[in-house]
Amino acid sequence: MSRFWNPKIRELEPYVPGEQPKMDNLVKLNTNENPFGPSPRVLQAISAETNEQLRLYPDPEGVQLKKTIADYHGVQPSEVFLGNGSDEVLAHIFQSLFQPDQPLLFPSISYSFYPVYCRLYGLTTETLDLDDDFAIRPEDYQRPNGGVILPNPNAPTGRFLGLKDIRRIVEANPETVVVIDEAYVDFGGESSIPMVKEYPNLVVVQTLSKSRSLAGLRVGFAIANEALIEGLERVKNSFNSYPMDRLALAGAIASFEDEDYFQRCRQSVIGQRDKVTEGLESLGFEVVPSAANFVFTRHPDHSGAELARQLRERSIIVRHFNKPRIDNHLRITIGNSNQNQALLDALEDILKQG
Ligand SMILES: *Cc1c(COP(=O)(O)O)cnc(C)c1O
Repeated sequence: MSRFWNPKIRELEPYVPGEQPKMDNLVKLNTNENPFGPSPRVLQAISAETNEQLRLYPDPEGVQLKKTIADYHGVQPSEVFLGNGSDEVLAHIFQSLFQPDQPLLFPSISYSFYPVYCRLYGLTTETLDLDDDFAIRPEDYQRPNGGVILPNPNAPTGRFLGLKDIRRIVEANPETVVVIDEAYVDFGGESSIPMVKEYPNLVVVQTLSKSRSLAGLRVGFAIANEALIEGLERVKNSFNSYPMDRLALAGAIASFEDEDYFQRCRQSVIGQRDKVTEGLESLGFEVVPSAANFVFTRHPDHSGAELARQLRERSIIVRHFNKPRIDNHLRITIGNSNQNQALLDALEDILKQG
């Protein structure tokens, strides 16, 4: 705290990211990174871009990447917005597309960055509970609001909400913007992007961090109708004209050009998720059905905090949330087969010891 701080800064409660410990031989299953490296073509493209041209600013509009994403998803480049990670895309959405006079609606168990942005941008909130199986209840999202946001699949539950229910929520709110945060959609969900053509109030956000193994490159995007994108561009160009650097632009384009690698990696994570789920269930864990690259799970006889602590002693890091209703759950990222086996072996060992 410093007397030099702007008073608004004192009120902030910043997001706390999952830790990135500087330890070797760690089985790191706490921040939903992909266990596989990016496509070799991405690394080649970044190397090729690492040259004296770095003295020049990048394309402020990211025209080529927008075109690549637009072609991939069957939309127009004018319907694509780019950001330095989808967190930045979300920040601009909160600032430019949600209305401050009514509360923003989102699930009470959801991405914990949402309330942080609300504070930063002066938005009020109304959080809506999930049902007993951690599913979103679409009928709840029919009340006065300044906007709606949900991750689909949801985080940290991993549950996917079908597109019929998404459509219901979008149609129930024609006067406000509905944002679907699809950070995990490639692991078993279905994207709402095709619906953007039908609804002028729908925004779909995706990231290259999870399913394309590029969390370190920081690339995210939104797809929505042109008028909404124009609003986002206004904020972006009042904030930072060059959010995407040359290496990020080159790497991201190459990622979309290697469809085969993308498909193999995501199928592999999905296959591993089924194995982890089976393994956990055979140890007596309850596992929420997941369409993401993580599972949300609890053991009826063991405290979540204690399990997380004991895993950590064995150099395995998972995410535990000290929050009502989920404080006995663990969110475990799907790793590669060795990591997943190490996790299951460690849990078996911990349970045996009582
Ligand atoms: C990981 C994640 C993001 C942010 O991803 P970026 O790395 O900033 O692109 C956004 N929303 C949810 C729900 C996430 O889990």
